[in-house]
Amino acid sequence: MKIISNFYDGKFIKSESTDKLSLFKPTTGEEYAHIPITTDKEFQSIIDKMKIAQASWANTPITKRSSILFKFKNLIEKNFDDIARIISEEHGKVFSDAKGSLQRGLEVVDFACGIPHLLKGNHSINVGTNVDSFDIKQPLGLCAGITPFNFPAMVPMWMFPISIACGNAFMLKPSEKVPQCSLKLGELLNEAGLPENVLTIVNGDKSVVDKILQSPDISSVSFVGSTPVAKYIYTECAKYNKRVQALGGAKNHMLIMEDANLEDAVNGLIGAAFGSAGERCMATSVALPIGKIQKPFMKLLKEKASQIKVGESLDPQSEMGPLITKEHKEKVLSYIEKGVSEGATLEMDGRNINLQGFENGNFVGPTIFNNVSTDMTIYQEEIFGPVLSVVNLDHFDDAMNIINTHEFGNGTSIYTSNGTLARNFMKNVQIGMVGINVPIPVPMAFYSFGGWKGSIFGGHGMHGEEGINFYTKRKTITSRWPEDVAGASLNMPTMK
Ligand code: NAD
Repeated sequence: MKIISNFYDGKFIKSESTDKLSLFKPTTGEEYAHIPITTDKEFQSIIDKMKIAQASWANTPITKRSSILFKFKNLIEKNFDDIARIISEEHGKVFSDAKGSLQRGLEVVDFACGIPHLLKGNHSINVGTNVDSFDIKQPLGLCAGITPFNFPAMVPMWMFPISIACGNAFMLKPSEKVPQCSLKLGELLNEAGLPENVLTIVNGDKSVVDKILQSPDISSVSFVGSTPVAKYIYTECAKYNKRVQALGGAKNHMLIMEDANLEDAVNGLIGAAFGSAGERCMATSVALPIGKIQKPFMKLLKEKASQIKVGESLDPQSEMGPLITKEHKEKVLSYIEKGVSEGATLEMDGRNINLQGFENGNFVGPTIFNNVSTDMTIYQEEIFGPVLSVVNLDHFDDAMNIINTHEFGNGTSIYTSNGTLARNFMKNVQIGMVGINVPIPVPMAFYSFGGWKGSIFGGHGMHGEEGINFYTKRKTITSRWPEDVAGASLNMPTMK
């Protein structure tokens, strides 16, 4: 049985722990590796090494830090397909999807390469007589990241490239369900020339998360995962006086107006609802067709959803792979049962999918509920699977109302050809990331990613300007250098 190592001292090191978890292949259910839970002693020794590494890394010229990130970017490009294959194998998403998610992570590395520009401060001369004022952005010290299973490369890459570029050392605790992609990225960053222990990777579950939260040496915690855990991380960080950004779950709505291009809207919805088997925080899980388009919308949606090819993750024909674990599949199936018992119309049932040779895989096919109402559990809760709820409404205002009163506020989108309406939507919707005729409005790396309401805890989103602000502390300096200090004339020559 393969044993998953930690990564520090610039190499893979096996934990001495006897406490371990099992990893199973999403496509076959086969157990393929053990993942030991990092011990207290190992954890503290890694922290001690990181403190030494960070002190000299923070003093490394910014251009040198940037050049290592450039090399890292080149190495990712060179190993692109290999990394994407690891993502596909450990997560189950299809290869094209894995490549897309890695590309989005790579764009954050690209952004972090610009760190010499991004860390520039402000400078004001003569704010008083002989008084100047300026600010500098300094690293926090030791930062930590705790990441979810659904983006094995992209979500860790939202965090560590920027944190490191800012002069911090970063401890990553990847999801215990998908640790291997992070380890590969750590190896490549080491090959790019990053000094040992500036990035470390420690494996484990809640017990290791608690070590991070309680460590007096760690200044900040970046978290992405489910809302209950995000809340826990946020409150614990407040208790231990740590800076925190904690991104949680989602229930994203797509509004389709009568004047929308229906073909475009449904094509967008198919990818947004069923891509990555719905295991995306930006997945559309609720569609809101308005008025007289409801029947043609459902007809087209079913037609296109029935053509989705569910299959093994690395099969180039596959468009949708399995869910992450057996337990998660059971959870998604129980939501489907709940939807039926609560009275929604099951238009497409993905429960009985049977793939020859993959009978023990965690596959669930595209599932569509029609006539869903807002009091149903399948509307209110995040399912995180290929289950789409359609709520039929008469007016734009009804849609705005339900989107704005939902617990979550991650992403949303509108399909319309009416610019005034689109602008109204963009301006008044209580959601962090908004698409207009764009199904999954994930911001580029140079903007910031983050929802509102129950989808985020803490004041900062990921990457972009907010990423830089999160991983640095600002110092403002006011200085006075009186003229003629030593009796010398400081009169400047007149410019001609
Ligand atoms: P999760 O909350 O179960 O786990 C996330 C991380 O927290 C893992 O590293 C895990 O080890 C740790 N963890 C789990 N339970 C814990 C506990 N009780 N105490 C402390 N730490 C704990 O999430 P997941 O199932 O891995 O990922 C899916 C969730 O992540 C979904 O809710 C999805 O919406 C969300 N997500 C959100 C975003 C976003 O940007 N908002 C992005 C991706 C995923």
